[in-house]
Amino acid sequence: MSAGQRALAIAESPTMALNEQARLLREAGESVIHLGIGEPKNQTPRSAVEAAAARLATGEVKYTPTSGIPSFKKAILAYTAANYGREAAPANVIVSDGAKQSIFNALFALLDPGQEVILLAPYWVSYPEMVRMCGGLPVVVHPPEGSFEPAMADIERAVTPSTRAVIVNSPNNPSGAVFSEALLGALIPFCEQRGIYVIMDDIYHKLVFDGVAVPSCYRFTSRPVDEATLVVVNGVAKTYGMTGFRIGWTIGPKDLVKVMGNIQSQTTSCTSVLTQAGAEGALTGSQDVVEDLRRFIESNRDRVVAGLAALPGVRLVRPLGTFYCLPDFRGVLGGPLGNDSHALAAFLLRTARVVTVPGKDFGVEGHLRLSYAGSAADVTEGLRRLQWALDPASPREITFGGKTHRRDWF
Ligand code: PMP
Repeated sequence: MSAGQRALAIAESPTMALNEQARLLREAGESVIHLGIGEPKNQTPRSAVEAAAARLATGEVKYTPTSGIPSFKKAILAYTAANYGREAAPANVIVSDGAKQSIFNALFALLDPGQEVILLAPYWVSYPEMVRMCGGLPVVVHPPEGSFEPAMADIERAVTPSTRAVIVNSPNNPSGAVFSEALLGALIPFCEQRGIYVIMDDIYHKLVFDGVAVPSCYRFTSRPVDEATLVVVNGVAKTYGMTGFRIGWTIGPKDLVKVMGNIQSQTTSCTSVLTQAGAEGALTGSQDVVEDLRRFIESNRDRVVAGLAALPGVRLVRPLGTFYCLPDFRGVLGGPLGNDSHALAAFLLRTARVVTVPGKDFGVEGHLRLSYAGSAADVTEGLRRLQWALDPASPREITFGGKTHRRDWF
């Protein structure tokens, strides 16, 4: 092996790895239901397709300014004013290759070696690896048993003189939890007083159910964007289902955004002009697509909640946002699989051909993350197979994909 030690310490994204496994099984002719990946199946919004196509038709496909096309940044500022109630300037915005790169650049810009970043379990799989890649140390705060919202007192206890940032993701991947105003209202001023940055990963902020609204993080600070310790990350992947455009952006203090720009200028130069144009089209076009997608996802959420309620031993905290949930399978894991979410996910893939993601990768063992971003038919079939595989009272054999399958566990 010729790679260096630092790179070898970085794990592959488990969700991307599962995707690959599912693809190989499908290629081999298997009927695989993917409850693994967080990718809405909607068509790209017309306004985005037309704007990207119009840009391509000009034949002017060149570098853009590192921080993004000025008209797109203007659209982002309008989005920020409308959704966050806060005015910001073009120098407060930087467009990156997906929210993933936005978060990485923010961490790279913030962290000195050995500084700590507080992660709130269950957390998105990429946070700890990104923190480590940037020379920092992830410090994990676990929620109280039976809840997916961390306790403020536990966060306070995790703070040390080396704490540089806290990453907040609400609505939350993987749990679907939406953090309370009480928590954000305590956390944001607490961090501000101590000079700790709060990276708000708001990629799911429009995907909420049951009439829940996500409060703007700027409500909890009276400081202007340049003086607040808030770094807000957003993008088009989840809200508009435009995952393949790879467009995310950051709103933050201009001195930090400038450093993020320096990093980006030396790594990717800028984001593709075509997908920036497409994302601008999405932001400035009809917003009905966002509500249509939200409603579709909410109906899938209802399907999942009802399906899991029928599974003995499975406990679910009702998701209020995103397209994920994180059921607790410890009640059904007492058997041969023990408290091992990797073994359970492998069993489900082998037996039921259903892709799930082990909770361990998100910092909570004994759970599996299920995505319900796919078609209603896939979600229904996935639940049928889970029920069959995990409920000892179900028949030993089932038919799917034109074949009879036999359960080998119970
Ligand atoms: N943050 C969270 C919590 C996510 O779930 C994802 C995508 N899975 C991202 C960021 C990255 O989004 P993008 O596709 O824009 O890079």
